[in-house]
Amino acid sequence: MRLAAGLGRANLSTAQADLDLHARDQSHHHPRRGDVVVWPESAQAVADILRIANEHRIPVTAWGVGTSLEGNSIPLYGGILLSFERMNRIIEVHADDFQVTVQPGIGHKDLNAELARYGLFFPPDPGANATVGGMLANNASGIRTVKYGASKDNVLRMQVALADGRLITVGSRSVKQSSGYDLLHLFVGSEGTLGIITEATLKLVPVPTYMSAVLAAFPTVEAAVEAVVAVRGSGLDPAALELIDAAHAVMLNQAEGVNLEPYPTLFMEFHAPHEATLSYGLEMVQEICDELGAVSFRATTDTAERKKLWHARHNSYEIMVRSHPNKQFFIMDVAVPISAYPELIAYIEQIKAERNITAYMVGHAGDGNIHVEFPYADEAEFERAQQADHDIVMRALELGGTATGEHGVGIGKARYMRREHGEALEVMRSIKQLLDPNNILNPGKIFPAVEAVTG
Ligand SMILES: Cc1cc2nc3c(=O)[nH]c(=O)nc-3n(C[C@H](O)[C@H](O)[C@H](O)COP(=O)(O)OP(=O)(O)OC[C@H]3O[C@@H](n4cnc5c(N)ncnc54)[C@H](O)[C@@H]3O)c2cc1C
Repeated sequence: MRLAAGLGRANLSTAQADLDLHARDQSHHHPRRGDVVVWPESAQAVADILRIANEHRIPVTAWGVGTSLEGNSIPLYGGILLSFERMNRIIEVHADDFQVTVQPGIGHKDLNAELARYGLFFPPDPGANATVGGMLANNASGIRTVKYGASKDNVLRMQVALADGRLITVGSRSVKQSSGYDLLHLFVGSEGTLGIITEATLKLVPVPTYMSAVLAAFPTVEAAVEAVVAVRGSGLDPAALELIDAAHAVMLNQAEGVNLEPYPTLFMEFHAPHEATLSYGLEMVQEICDELGAVSFRATTDTAERKKLWHARHNSYEIMVRSHPNKQFFIMDVAVPISAYPELIAYIEQIKAERNITAYMVGHAGDGNIHVEFPYADEAEFERAQQADHDIVMRALELGGTATGEHGVGIGKARYMRREHGEALEVMRSIKQLLDPNNILNPGKIFPAVEAVTG
């Protein structure tokens, strides 16, 4: 009743259709309905909702557009589903400072479409039209992270509503700040478990004058991965350095007509202020790829062709799912230091061969990040895929990496938190306890309910 009085009936729904629409993300995790969906229209409304929820110990799960891949936005314990669909405005473009202040519900693609007229863009790109709030909360990355960094590297300031209803500002619009604890980056990647982002000032970069897309196909995944390490080591500074396996290349050809060789392929992009710099860089990349046995090399500066290739790459997951109409999928995400990338990929290849498992690989290789996609049709296949997933995570951790490079912890990776963070997990618990003592914010995420994996 108090929610309805504060928000107005039009900004709240208990209709089954609305609850269902916000019950699952894009992962394989089981859906769970909230009890009510609310659509706040201001930061103050968000703060008021949290104050009421905190008083009544009602769980609150924030929702961008639900494209998470680890169950991050599933309202596991019901309660209030806080959708940012109606807080999707650009508040101010600070073009001279290369910054923009936005509400959290704006999609990053919609934002970049608006920013194009200023010749600026927000670089993190997870493919889906994810919201800025969801990207910051998951510390999302994507194809351009190798050059421009993850979401955490592209935010300067945020307004955050705390569980008790206080509204605070963290960070500053100055690109330098050494004043006190870095609370900004405490909230980034916290998956809506510490506070709710109600506004963010983002860093922007000028749209590059010259861009080229490069495709290099290799006879084996190992050779492609060697080229990744060599390109990174050459100082060439790619704006994207992606790996797809041979199966993906074939599926992309069928679905998008992009004429890829049926081999493991590197998708690259290079940005430069001058044509000559770009051409020189491309020559160097070709030399590296040729030396490492590339079976084909193709570079284009044609905008339409470049966009077509990236469109295909961005859609690779959906294309693969569509190519397997009788299967369900789950996708896993790990990352390691770049020097350990060949070893990780070799291990995945070994698992696939030894256990006769179907799995596809696609990754932000330049960041040492790989996604393995497992199709399954029944419980037995799912179990085998889960075991492979677990073994790959453990190997990534042994190699000095992380259980999740960009998809976040959500539900799926909570069991690795102790193994990855050790005693630091207790510090995280203390911070959670301090900021959300009643555990109303996205409960059931990040922290393991049962500490399964310690070894
Ligand atoms: C096909 C496909 C490809 C993908 N590729 C990539 C990729 O390349 N790189 C990558 O990093 N990710 C990728 N993702 C995952 C996903 O797009 C990102 O995690 C994205 O950041 C989620 O944004 P969202 O708006 O959908 O957020 P949601 O899924 O709705 O929410 C994400 C998390 O943020 C919380 N949240 C949402 N809004 C707020 C807020 N205002 N304040 C506090 N917490 C909030 C939610 O509670 C949840 O924990 C991909 C997903 C799909 C389906």
